Amino acid sequence: MFADLHLHTHFSDGTFTPEELVARACDQGLSAIALTDHDTVEGCPRAAAACEKAGIEFIVGTELTADYKGCELHILGYFLDIENPLLIREMSKCQATRQDRIREMVLRLNQARVPLEAERVFAIANCQSPGRPHVARALVADGYCAGMDEAFERFLKRGRPAWVPKRRISAANAIELIHQAGGLAVMAHPGLNRSDDVIPPVVKAGLDGIECFHTKHSTHASERYLELADRYKLLVTGGSDCHGMSKGRPLIGSMKLPYQHVELMKIAVARRQSPSAPKVPAPEESPTLS
Ligand code: AMP
Ligand code: ZN
Ligand code: FE
Ligand code: FE
Repeated sequence: MFADLHLHTHFSDGTFTPEELVARACDQGLSAIALTDHDTVEGCPRAAAACEKAGIEFIVGTELTADYKGCELHILGYFLDIENPLLIREMSKCQATRQDRIREMVLRLNQARVPLEAERVFAIANCQSPGRPHVARALVADGYCAGMDEAFERFLKRGRPAWVPKRRISAANAIELIHQAGGLAVMAHPGLNRSDDVIPPVVKAGLDGIECFHTKHSTHASERYLELADRYKLLVTGGSDCHGMSKGRPLIGSMKLPYQHVELMKIAVARRQSPSAPKVPAPEESPTLS
């Protein structure tokens, strides 16, 4: 039995609907999936319903964009209560920040003589959690760029005219938010971070797990993170980070996590949610987290 715990839909910057994603999961013979759209859980009820129909286990998830001392980190949240008021409020704030960033990027495009309108990007994105890929899609759709790569290369990459930095919540706050919504906090694709030095302080802030297996990790990288998981007593997770069609076939199914890791996650979340479970000690150095 296998799982894919890192998947996106059109509720953020993926292209599949939740139903399409679940159909692909079925084709790949997956037993469990988690939906981890950026800064939102909006797609989860539909994905859960489709999974129930298909006989696949569904895990509510999200991928929060966070910061540790200027480094962008992605923190995955699993087994969240999607009706948790603080989670809803904080995610709405992240979404508003994303929308402001789109307006800022469009303004800069306009200054670079590209007369794109923010409303056009929002119409193409058609979601609350828009990001750079949606601006790129708009630039391609309206004929300003031949393809996504050109849009990033000419305008959207760091240092290009329309690049705007993202305002992010601190890693400690992201972890705390996930915990108070009853979930587990997992560092996404550590191999894509600038350095592994961010791991120990984020572990101290209460991290529960680390995504050892990811499409962009080499075998060597996965082994290194398995060692770190062992050293810091972290749960091991993995996923494809499928965003829809990519180079002719979607990534879903390209990274299959053995189901026993999901079982360990369920034990950990039950412990966390049980009122009699011992509290995780407060991280002594959390105030130094940015
Ligand atoms: P954002 O989080 O809004 O800054 O956007 C980051 C997303 O842009 C990532 O998920 C990447 O998948 C995507 N991205 C970055 N560079 C490229 C590129 N050259 N072509 C297509 N997508 C890209
Ligand atoms: Zn994404
Ligand atoms: Fe990510
Ligand atoms: Fe992702």
